[in-house]
Amino acid sequence: MKNLKKISLQGKRVLLRVDFNVPLNPKTHKVSDISRIQACLPTIQYLLKQGAKVIIMSHLGRPKGKVMKEFRLDPVATVLERLLKVTVKKISDCVGDTVKREVSKMTAGQVVLLENLRFHPEEEKNDRGFAKKLAQLGDIFVNDAFGAVHRAHASTEAIAHILPSYPGFLLEKEISALSPLLGTPRRPFVLILGGAKIDTKLGVLQSFLHKVDSFLIGGGLANTFLKAEGYDIGDSLYEPNKIEVAQELMLEVEKSHERFVLPRDVVVADSISDTAATVDIPVEDVEGNMKILDIGRKTTEHFCRIIEEASTIVWNGPVGLIEYKPFRKGSRDIAEAMAHAQGTTIVGGGDTLEALRLFDMQADSFDHVSTGGGAMLEFLEGKKLPGIEVLER
Ligand code: ADP
Ligand code: MG
Repeated sequence: MKNLKKISLQGKRVLLRVDFNVPLNPKTHKVSDISRIQACLPTIQYLLKQGAKVIIMSHLGRPKGKVMKEFRLDPVATVLERLLKVTVKKISDCVGDTVKREVSKMTAGQVVLLENLRFHPEEEKNDRGFAKKLAQLGDIFVNDAFGAVHRAHASTEAIAHILPSYPGFLLEKEISALSPLLGTPRRPFVLILGGAKIDTKLGVLQSFLHKVDSFLIGGGLANTFLKAEGYDIGDSLYEPNKIEVAQELMLEVEKSHERFVLPRDVVVADSISDTAATVDIPVEDVEGNMKILDIGRKTTEHFCRIIEEASTIVWNGPVGLIEYKPFRKGSRDIAEAMAHAQGTTIVGGGDTLEALRLFDMQADSFDHVSTGGGAMLEFLEGKKLPGIEVLER
């Protein structure tokens, strides 16, 4: 890849793609975890120091091609401004005349934050026309969005065919931290997967089938598997149309002799709030309007024992609904077990970083804390990631 440090940036318009897809507090709507923003500061500060005009673009959430005010980037601009101690001009769109006008007024050392890229359906379609419109705003493209490099989107892939393109410092750092794990990670190799949805994780589970010794499954993800095993999961979040694939996957796991550890006891509640009353019960006792919102104590202990004995441990996705206090314990115990583990520990994902913050855990408790969730896993699978590959041309 090309080296950003080798070019002159004075007066250049640098279009910088970052991953500011940060968790927002569901009540106050403020950024609840700033680590992804902090992680990009070295690149932004370098660009500013070199006299560039910095035009920042990001996505946030899944607005699916429509303007949705809860996904506007204004709360992010506020945090960025505070961290940089430089005015950040937030614009209400990412392409079009207003944006062009604002950018043309910029002087060296100024920062503009464009609106959520995913308000335009063309972004996720990797649309070349849309990429061209974005590209008009810059002289150089810098990608520092490690968390988004596994997606071939207009702002991560198509654009890099148009402008001279460079990796940012965060992207470089993630690649060099994760690369040693690519070949043959030391075994036992344990992959802990949580999170809400199965669809984004199925591919990952499949590709790691013959690489890991144990899968530890929690979160909403586990519910679909439990349902597929025939359990009544009450009113828990799950994906009905993924039951069949879940069953197929479990059959494959059986054949490959890996351990696929699902929760055997769970924390349930019938409402979701910071004061919800919870009980810890065996999976077979779940019924009616109970919602599974965390892994149970015995399951947590079982997970932690496997973590202690492992040589390589990778974790993505909280195993409970950590946004609310009563459902944090499973994730907290996993984080602590990893922090004390002998093996190499890698943690990543936007919400997983938020979990670490809630538990007051520092990045140096782990061998690597990645800003990417899906991107980190796909990188570790050994896949070619479109956002990286395009920078290697
Ligand atoms: P990351 O951002 O670290 O990659 P994900 O986005 O995959 O993680 O998943 C995080 C989300 O999963 C969190 O919002 C969390 O509340 C949710 N989650 C975890 N367990 C459950 C559960 N049992 N029911 C509903 N949501 C859950
Ligand atoms: Mg997430």
